[in-house]
Amino acid sequence: LVFNQIDKSKSNLQPNQHRLAGDKRYPWTDELEHNLQQKFKLKSFRSNQLDAINAILNGDDVFVLMPTGGGKSLCYQLPATVNQGKDSTTIVVSPLISLMQDQVEHLRALHINAAMISSKDSSEARRDSFRMFRAGHLDLIYLSPEMLSKSEQCKSTIKKLYEEGQLARIIIDEAHCVSSWGHDFRPDYKLLSFFKRQYPDIPMMALTATASVKVRTDIINNLGLKNALMFKQSFNRPNLIYMVRPKNKDSMFEMITEISTKFRSKTGIVYCNSKKQCEDTSRLLVSNGLSCAFYHAGMENEDRSEVQMKWQSSEIKIVCATVAFGMGIDKPDVRFVYHHTMPRSLEGYYQECGRGGRDGKTSFCTMYYQYADFKSLESQIKRDKSLTNKVLKQRHLEKLHDVLNYCSNTIECRRKLVLQYFNENFNVALCKKTCDNCKASNEVENRDVSEDAKVLLSIVEKIGYEDVTANYIIDVYRGSQQQKIVQSGHALLEEHGKGSKYLKEDVQRMIQLLLDKGFLKEKTGTNSFGFANTYVKFGKRLSSKLIMTFSISKSISAKPSRPSSPYFSGSRPNSESLISDVLANNVQLNKDDLKKFNEKKRSM
Ligand code: ADP
Ligand code: MG
Ligand code: ZN
Repeated sequence: LVFNQIDKSKSNLQPNQHRLAGDKRYPWTDELEHNLQQKFKLKSFRSNQLDAINAILNGDDVFVLMPTGGGKSLCYQLPATVNQGKDSTTIVVSPLISLMQDQVEHLRALHINAAMISSKDSSEARRDSFRMFRAGHLDLIYLSPEMLSKSEQCKSTIKKLYEEGQLARIIIDEAHCVSSWGHDFRPDYKLLSFFKRQYPDIPMMALTATASVKVRTDIINNLGLKNALMFKQSFNRPNLIYMVRPKNKDSMFEMITEISTKFRSKTGIVYCNSKKQCEDTSRLLVSNGLSCAFYHAGMENEDRSEVQMKWQSSEIKIVCATVAFGMGIDKPDVRFVYHHTMPRSLEGYYQECGRGGRDGKTSFCTMYYQYADFKSLESQIKRDKSLTNKVLKQRHLEKLHDVLNYCSNTIECRRKLVLQYFNENFNVALCKKTCDNCKASNEVENRDVSEDAKVLLSIVEKIGYEDVTANYIIDVYRGSQQQKIVQSGHALLEEHGKGSKYLKEDVQRMIQLLLDKGFLKEKTGTNSFGFANTYVKFGKRLSSKLIMTFSISKSISAKPSRPSSPYFSGSRPNSESLISDVLANNVQLNKDDLKKFNEKKRSM
C-alpha cells in the first residue's frame, strides 16, 4: 500500500390526517391511477405520495417533507398529467439546470409534455420553449428561480396562462434553498415570494428533504404558503450505518485499507473539505489501485459532468468531492460515504450520507473527526468575507457547534442525534446497534472536573499574555516535553503535567466547555507565517462546578486502567467491527455480494 503523509412548526400548518384520506375517491382518481400505471409505469404509491397528490389536486397548498430518494418528484409530476380534459400547466422551480434536464428527459421518455427554460438556453431553444409554454400545451414547465422572478417574458406568459385559467399550480422543489438556515441557500429563491402575492389562488407545493423547524418556518413564511397541509414521514434511513472516528495521521491509511478490503469494487463517495484535499485524496486513492476521480466547484463544468457521468455509469467507483457534489446525485448502489473532515452542518451531513444506499441496501457512513478541524472550520467561517451579515455568520457558527456536539458525543444513538436536529423524536430501540454508539452501548458517568479545570485555567492565566493556542495549553497541561515548551520555560510551571491522566480529547472538550461558559476567551490573530490563528485567553475565575460527561465502555474493562476513561474509548474498535459484523451477518446485502466478499477475503 502506497501511503504519503498528507412537529409541526408553529406556523399555519394543518393536520393532514383526516382531511384527505388516501383511499377516498375523487373526481380525478381514475385518471390519476391510469397515469400512474400507463404513463409512469409504476405499480403503487409510496408513503405520503397519494395524500400529497390529492391535496394539491384539491387546491390546497402543500408542504412535502420526504427524505432524499423518498420520491418527491412524483408528488408533482403525476398530478401535472391529470388534466381532467383541459389544458393546464404546472410550473416547477428547481435550483439546478442539471436537475431540470434530468427530469425533463425522463418525462419526455415517458411521452409527457415537459420543457425547461433557463438563462443558459440558446435563444432558439428558448423561443421554442416559450412558444409551447405560451400556447398552454405543456403539462410541466421547469424554470430556474431567476427566470421566474426576473424575466419579463416569463412573467407575461404566466399572466396569460393565469388569465386563461390554464395555470394549474406552482411547485418549488428543493424548497430549503429559500432559507438561510438551510445548507444550500440561494438568494434567487427569496424572490419567489412574489408568486403567492400575485396569484394567491394558485396552489403551491413546496418540497424538501430538509426538515429542521427553522428551515420549515422560513419556507412557509417566505413563499407565503397558506394553511398548507404538511406531509412528512420519519427521516430515519435504517440501512445507513453511522459512525464517527477519531482522526489522526493514520486515518487516511485506515480508510484506504478499508475501501480496498471491505468495499473492493464498490461505489462510494469521500467528502473532503477543500478543492486541494479532494485532489490529494483522489490521487492517493488512485495510487493505491482504487478507481477514483475528484469533483469540486473549481473545475470546468464539462469536467465535472464527465466525472459525474463516469461515476453514475460505474466506470469510476469513487469520487472525492466537496459538497458541490450534491443535489441531483442519484446513484442507487452507493455502498460507502466517508467524511474525511467534519461537515459544517448536520443537515448537510444528513444529505451527504443520504446519497448512500438509495437501493435500500446497507451503506456505511463514516466520519473522521478531530477538534483541530472544528477549530479551522470555525476560523474559516469567522474570516469568511462573503458572510457580511452578522446574523448569518452566527448561524453558520451555531451549526458548526451542533456538528461538534454530534462528533464528541460517544454515548447517544447517532440516529437520534441526527434526527432530533430535524425535530424528530427517534425511538433508539429501532437502531438495533446499527450506529457506533449503540453498538458500543457505553455507559455514561458525570464527573466533577472543577479542580482540574482550575489548574487548566491557571495555566492560561499565567502564560496567556502571549499568543498561545489551545493545543499548546493542552500540551503543557498534559506534561509534554516538546522543545518549544521546554525552551519557553513552561515545562517548569507547577501546573505542567497536572493533566497527564487525561486524553487530549478530554482536555479539548474541557477547553471548549470553558470557552462556552466564558471562563476562557478566544482571540484571533496572525501567526508568524501570516496565517490567521486562534489563541486562548483567560476569561474569569471558575465560580461554579464544572461537570463533564465521560463514557465508560462496558466492553473494554470494568475498571479502566486510566483514572479517566478515554472519551473515545471503544469508538474506533467498535466502528471497525461494526462494518465487519454488519457485512458478515448481513440480512440486507444480497448473498452474491457476500459470497464475493468472502472469496476476496480468502484470496487476500
Ligand atoms: P427525491 O426527489 O425525494 O429525492 P425522487 O423523486 O428522485 O426522490 O425519486 C427517487 C427514486 O424513487 C426515483 O428513481 C423514482 O423513480 C423512484 N420512485 C418514486 N416514487 C415511486 C413509486 N411510487 N414506486 C416506485 N418507485 C418510485
Ligand atoms: Mg428531488
Ligand atoms: Zn444507534
